[in-house]
Amino acid sequence: MNILSIESSCDETAAAVIKNGTHILSNVVVSQVDIFAAYGGVIPEIAARSHLETILPVIHQALNDANLTKNQINAIAVTHTPGLLGSLLIGTLTARALAILWHKPLYAVHHLKSHIYANWLESHSVPEFPLLALAISGGHTQILYMPAHNQFEIIGTTRDDAVGECFDKVAKILGLPYPGGPSISKLALTGNPQAYPLPHPMIDNLDFSFSGLKTAVLRSVQQACHLPITTPSFELAHHLTDQMKADFAASFEATACDILLEKLQLALKTHPDVKSIVFAGGVSANQTLRQKAQTSPLNEKSLFFPAPQFTGDNAAMVGAAAYFEIESGTQPTDPYKLNIAPRTNITN
Ligand code: AMP
Ligand code: MG
Repeated sequence: MNILSIESSCDETAAAVIKNGTHILSNVVVSQVDIFAAYGGVIPEIAARSHLETILPVIHQALNDANLTKNQINAIAVTHTPGLLGSLLIGTLTARALAILWHKPLYAVHHLKSHIYANWLESHSVPEFPLLALAISGGHTQILYMPAHNQFEIIGTTRDDAVGECFDKVAKILGLPYPGGPSISKLALTGNPQAYPLPHPMIDNLDFSFSGLKTAVLRSVQQACHLPITTPSFELAHHLTDQMKADFAASFEATACDILLEKLQLALKTHPDVKSIVFAGGVSANQTLRQKAQTSPLNEKSLFFPAPQFTGDNAAMVGAAAYFEIESGTQPTDPYKLNIAPRTNITN
């Protein structure tokens, strides 16, 4: 089965052709990161306009790279939630038009499901069920229990900020370039993770909280620079030496990773039957997180991380998720009733 998949939930315009759920025939991603580096973050209106300019050439390229015509495509899949409203509209309306014109079944896919299914792409071994998935991105921090394909139970979620958002905000405090996560990771390599002790939230269930960690970094930077707590965050970077920035990056990164992994260990206590642990979303690219997980008690289970090129937004993972939805009996979406929603939780 060949699925043409489309992704446009944030600032990447992407299309892919996936064969039988795991084999990539083509994978085209056009990122808007260069546009938004100048602004220090995504501007939704500009993102939507950029998707509009790029989406048809990207789909065309995906079909060309796969060496297939539209007649050899069996289904179309598209991200319909969650994401930026204008960005989602461009992808979903394009997918829906193609589904109607080409008479193909249409599958509307939840973005978080796609990030999880990135772990099935082109890998030698695949996760075994039941499994725990840690979905860590710019908008989500969740632990999900999956007893089987396409079945999800959210067992822990963030009460405030997402962990990726926290990486991005701490990067701003330290004056590092957008996107914040990779900038922090790079700088942390030369820093001391023990230089600045930072707190862990005292939540005794599987929920997360990251807004306190962000504020703790802010206060710690102010204190290290002998500045009052009224000093605005955008002024702080000028007062920090390069070594202090590296030490803050390393201390923050280590603390954020430890918080995530401690919660996964707690989740294993309530769900001891799991066979695999799957990491998903942009923050799963973090090398410190990967190394810490592999040297923690979690390593008794089989750990899965997406290949680096599939940690960010892409359409290959959308095709994988759609394939396993189809295999699980999900019916196609009526293109005339395709719903988009900026924020929704994953459902079965
Ligand atoms: P997503 O929302 O899944 O597209 O992921 C984007 C988020 O992942 C942003 O908040 C990034 O800062 C974060 N991110 C990307 N790479 C890394 C990394 N190496 N370490 C930590 N966070 C990262
Ligand atoms: Mg994403």
